[in-house]
Amino acid sequence: MAYTVTNSLSSRRIVLLGKTGVGKSAAGNTILGQKEFRSELNTISVTSECSYSHATVSGRSVSIVDTPGLIDTQMKPEDLAEEIARSVYISSPGPHAFLIVFPLIMRFTDHEQQIPQLIERMFGEVVLKYSIILFTHGDQLDGETAEGLVEENEALRHLVQKCGGRYHVFNNRDQNNREQVNDLLQKIDTTIEQNGGGHYSNQMLQDAERFRREEEEQRLREEEERIQQEEKQRQEEIERVEKETEEKIKAEIEEGKLQETEGEEPKGSRCTIL
Ligand code: GDP
Ligand code: MG
Repeated sequence: MAYTVTNSLSSRRIVLLGKTGVGKSAAGNTILGQKEFRSELNTISVTSECSYSHATVSGRSVSIVDTPGLIDTQMKPEDLAEEIARSVYISSPGPHAFLIVFPLIMRFTDHEQQIPQLIERMFGEVVLKYSIILFTHGDQLDGETAEGLVEENEALRHLVQKCGGRYHVFNNRDQNNREQVNDLLQKIDTTIEQNGGGHYSNQMLQDAERFRREEEEQRLREEEERIQQEEKQRQEEIERVEKETEEKIKAEIEEGKLQETEGEEPKGSRCTIL
């Protein structure tokens, strides 16, 4: 335990996650206290690869992996997911905290709710034990409080709850405000303590990948069974119609024969009349 505490005090590995333009790179720069990641308004020039940087912040060795936006129209979803998952290997042996970034001023719509779902799918449900919601644009709160905004939106409240109630507000326009960074580092320390000194690991990522694969295999099996079942039903229907038709034809032939026989006058009677 003593080793874990010493170890946890010496280094912090952080992964930034979120959509493009939410302020991930700016938040990375705020934490490190220097412009290490490219942060800009123009979202066309955003990078499609993870980037890594580190610095000593308040006596801790802090390393950060900035990731490409979680939803991207340019990249194939599987390539993007693979690149984002690489953040875990870059933070080897694994990040202490994932910061899931949202601009505070943004409405948390159905579209936004896809973000935590995507993250859970990529990293497994366990990821939320290591996650903190980081709200950027704290400078634009405009009289409201972060607590109030979280409280009034059910989906957001639910997400924060799933992250053990952990969230933090950043104003990336004020990079000299070191208190906001120290408070965040404190919250990361608490997260580490709550996780028994541990961090998210490569093993957890592999478990999530295996889970996804098994789920996909199960889905394919069910699809295959459904197709076979449909084929069987179709075959049975064909056989039923064939049988019915056959019986109908048989019955018609029988009936035709009967009518034929009925139409014929018995030879004997004619003779009698004549
Ligand atoms: P990323 O795509 O998630 O990495 O987003 P960026 O860090 O590149 O930020 C996108 C834009 O939002 C940039 O123009 C930033 O200057 C701006 N931005 C980020 N954080 C804040 C913030 O806290 N306040 C304000 N006013 N602007 C911010
Ligand atoms: Mg960026």
